Amino acid sequence: MKLIPALLPSLIEAIADIIEKNSEEVTALDQAIGDGDHVINLQRGIHALMAQREDLSQLDWVSVFQKIGMTLMSTVGGASGSLYGTLFITLSKAAREQTLNLQGFADIFTKGVAAVKHRGKADAGEKTLLDVLIPVADYLRTAAADSVALPEVLDNIAQVAQTGMESTRDMMATKGRASFLQERTLGHIDAGAKTSQLMICAIVGVLSEQLGTITK
Ligand code: ADP
Ligand code: MG
Repeated sequence: MKLIPALLPSLIEAIADIIEKNSEEVTALDQAIGDGDHVINLQRGIHALMAQREDLSQLDWVSVFQKIGMTLMSTVGGASGSLYGTLFITLSKAAREQTLNLQGFADIFTKGVAAVKHRGKADAGEKTLLDVLIPVADYLRTAAADSVALPEVLDNIAQVAQTGMESTRDMMATKGRASFLQERTLGHIDAGAKTSQLMICAIVGVLSEQLGTITK
């Protein structure tokens, strides 16, 4: 399957839909150990991307990632706005030197996640969205090295993201607002990890469906 920008409207719609459907649950998670605004922050960015989705589908990947990054940076706000903005702007820079096959995507995604780590001064195990993004990047590199077939890669990404999200429940937050609550964060899933997992799940769903259509 070729990753084509023509899929962007479906991808953005699927993300908007999954965040809307889970908005109450995520807000409750962010209220428990944050300030409760995470879904509203994200939805500002998603609404802006919904308005741009047809225009985005006409661009090449370098421009797509750049435009998404700038939009998220200027609309989302909160910690997650600058982190997702950084992710996409780095994807754009890295995509200049890459063909977007599995290996290429694994490489650029790894660079994007490294930039998020740097921006948030955070790493795995600190109860953030990085506890989803880091294992997904690690898995993508392994899958590319082992030439795993795409349908299997997609299923496994969804599983890795789910496991990463759930792993935040037993972590103590050491970054972001939640870190002020220290051990009181134990037992709660991180809201940012949850929305990362949901968005990855939505992307995997669209790509799996597309793959099914092509191979039928
Ligand atoms: P804010 O915390 O500023 O209100 P949001 O509510 O939009 O912003 O986003 C909160 C999420 O951002 C957290 O659940 C966590 O996943 C993520 N986050 C916060 N700080 C960091 C950081 N330093 N590094 C990585 N992720 C972070
Ligand atoms: Mg918040």
